[in-house]
Amino acid sequence: MLKPREVVRIARNLPITDPFDLDALVAEVSEIVGLPVHLAPYPPQTAVEARQLGEALPAALCIATASRVHVLYRTDTTESHQRHSILHEVGHLLCRHVTPNADSDVRTLLRSTYDDAKEKAAETFAYEFERRLGPLRAQQGERQEDGPLTDTIERYGSILEG
Ligand SMILES: [Zn+2]
Repeated sequence: MLKPREVVRIARNLPITDPFDLDALVAEVSEIVGLPVHLAPYPPQTAVEARQLGEALPAALCIATASRVHVLYRTDTTESHQRHSILHEVGHLLCRHVTPNADSDVRTLLRSTYDDAKEKAAETFAYEFERRLGPLRAQQGERQEDGPLTDTIERYGSILEG
């Protein structure tokens, strides 16, 4: 089991492109884990199956077969939430929580959970990596999460700039 500071180190040492390119990150992760990683929205039938089974469809999910890893994510949420969920799954991959598995039964997948320590490690990775993305996003003129502070800064910014 990785210590929190080891997870932080993984997040800090990953190469990052400016502007940030999720596909480039996923390609890098494929190299590291030694399995091709495919990133895609949930297939529509997965949402239907989850509903029929009465299971909640997680924001994102890793499915590892014997030869590849699929990171599936919901698209019915904000872009920053999607990215966080994807980075969380990337964290599980880089912390080696995901083992290649031939079982792709949807019911099993939706009910499979990691223990708390693994969930914390994946969150630590996602937040630490996003902390590095912050300045890059700002450079591109993209906004962080809307909040009172952002509004205040913008108001003052427009006053100062006339
Ligand atoms: Zn998780």
